[in-house]
Amino acid sequence: MCGIVGYIGNRNAIPILIDGLKRLEYRGYDSAGLAFFNDDKITLTKSKGQIKELERKISDTWRSKVGIAHTRWATHGEPSEVNAHPHTDCSDKIFVCHNGIIENYKALKEVLIRRGHKFKSETDTEVLAHLIEENLRYKPELAIAKSLKLIKGTYGIVVFFSDYPDRIIAARNSSPLVIGMGDNENFIVSDASAILGRTKNVVYMNDGEMAVLTKDNAKLFSYRGGSASSVNILKRAEKLDFNVQDIQKSGYPHFMLKEIFEQPESLTNSLRGRLIKKEGNVKLGGLENIKERLKSIDRLIITGCGTAYLAGSIGKLMIEELSGIPCEVGLASELRYLPNVDYRQNLAMVAISQSGETADTLAALRRFKEKNILTLGIVNVVGSTVARETDAGVYNHVGPEIGVASTKAFTSQVIILAILAIFLGRERGFLSAGKAKKIIVEIEKLPMLIKRVFGKKNKIKLIAKKYKNYNNFLYIGRKYNFPTALEGALKLKEVSYIHAEGCGAGEMKHGPIAMIDENFPIIAIAPEDSVYDKMASNMEEIKARRGKIIAITTEGNKKIKHIADDWLYIPKTL
Ligand code: GLU
Repeated sequence: MCGIVGYIGNRNAIPILIDGLKRLEYRGYDSAGLAFFNDDKITLTKSKGQIKELERKISDTWRSKVGIAHTRWATHGEPSEVNAHPHTDCSDKIFVCHNGIIENYKALKEVLIRRGHKFKSETDTEVLAHLIEENLRYKPELAIAKSLKLIKGTYGIVVFFSDYPDRIIAARNSSPLVIGMGDNENFIVSDASAILGRTKNVVYMNDGEMAVLTKDNAKLFSYRGGSASSVNILKRAEKLDFNVQDIQKSGYPHFMLKEIFEQPESLTNSLRGRLIKKEGNVKLGGLENIKERLKSIDRLIITGCGTAYLAGSIGKLMIEELSGIPCEVGLASELRYLPNVDYRQNLAMVAISQSGETADTLAALRRFKEKNILTLGIVNVVGSTVARETDAGVYNHVGPEIGVASTKAFTSQVIILAILAIFLGRERGFLSAGKAKKIIVEIEKLPMLIKRVFGKKNKIKLIAKKYKNYNNFLYIGRKYNFPTALEGALKLKEVSYIHAEGCGAGEMKHGPIAMIDENFPIIAIAPEDSVYDKMASNMEEIKARRGKIIAITTEGNKKIKHIADDWLYIPKTL
């Protein structure tokens, strides 16, 4: 799922479109393209590779007041100029940019070819342009709605017609679209970062909605079902809560590093106004309305994908320990296929998603909503789909996370789950005020303790250099640090392309230890906590097989020198 930018107004659309695409570059893409209207005709320009390549093809003299643009991440058909979006119909009158996947495109394409349509690309997206062409006897909005009825899959689309240059039409199903409303100009983008600094008035579109943008108006209606029903767009308008600086690298070589170093601040923002130390309690405004219902919950299910799932796995342990509520955690990509389980218990689901748009998380959430189960969200992007579709929730407030590998969102998800655990424990009378207070005192110190870890960056670099040529790594941990081990392995794979696995340290002897030799370094997450002795035994077993050990342990642990090859100290906390 990549980037969409559309503009209609009085200014030159071309630099606005290009600038918007650049703001979405962080999402990754393999090609880009744009279509704009000028002198009674549409110009279509596409390019494989970077936006720079596309810019080279654009003349400074080109002017337009309306256009659509796209960065593509190929799902159907190789990355190439022809496969880049926008895609067109046979008569080159309809221009479509699409994020997502049209699952039944093959069957639709066969029918369209039999009806005489000529396809130019290998993409799934192009069927949409030809389907709309089939329906062109209707007005554009209806032609699109009729075409979408035939489509199975996910989409955020923007469509532009050469015969109707006064409007851009957009529609969504499981792929985000945001309308930006300015003075005599309107924007449609797949991610609000693309319009930062241009307008703060935004409307997040819902699934099943279509938007028609003209230069001085934006209309929204739901197009599914019999007749279209219009939505009061002004009532839905929200203020964007971040700034242009938030999406700049601010001197760091890349966003991931910037976001790692932002953690003391981002955690402070996640916690702001939520800890009531004096009372040994926490305040979560987003859960106020469902406080009573939460008291009677018998069981919780946490869901998410990737990092959010792993944060949830830590959350499960905290919730069970501090609130006594039995809690499970499930991968959203699996939970979405939940059979018709007959839930007799009073169940609640917690869906975790940084963007609030993760397709599998949404699908799992909706599966539980169908069963009338109470749903909560832990979401960073204000107004996103998970935030809108859950009954209640807590925002992370960490600002935009641009780096593809999650960092500051992960630590924020863990801290929000920690305070959720305190909240539930206190509400249900399971956790004493005294114990909660002790935990809160430690939580408050975290931003400062994280800064202390940053002081070790040179040592961390040295260790990274020493081990950079190994092809395999194993991360191990127990209890709270078992999910941390999995998260560590996930980060290493994603960022360095080195094979890595995470394993519960207690599972080593049941198979994984067979892999260990001097060429297979182990990262042992072994703070001096309740399971340290067991971790120490695991490290001895590894040493006996000549495995190299990099230990992460708490300051003051002198014994580590006798077991590990290298070690990093982290400050002690609860
Ligand atoms: N499925 C479409 C394609 O392969 C859209 C991919 C995207 O979301 O960028 O062209």
